[in-house]
Amino acid sequence: MDEADIANDSILADMERRLARLQAAADKPPKTHCEKCDEPITPARQKLRLNLCFDCALLLERAGRFFRKG
Ligand SMILES: [Zn+2]
Repeated sequence: MDEADIANDSILADMERRLARLQAAADKPPKTHCEKCDEPITPARQKLRLNLCFDCALLLERAGRFFRKG
């Protein structure tokens, strides 16, 4: 076995670990309530895996715009 083979093996193992993590995240049930204010999140937003209610997402987006300008 030469060194190139060992390097490829560790890269593959690393990729597999990353994929496993992504898979685990995708398997998590969607949030049913907003992370910020605990308001229920609509099923449409749950499908998109959003963890904020519409109002909080809007506020956050506005805040982001404000900070980018400033
Ligand atoms: Zn909220």
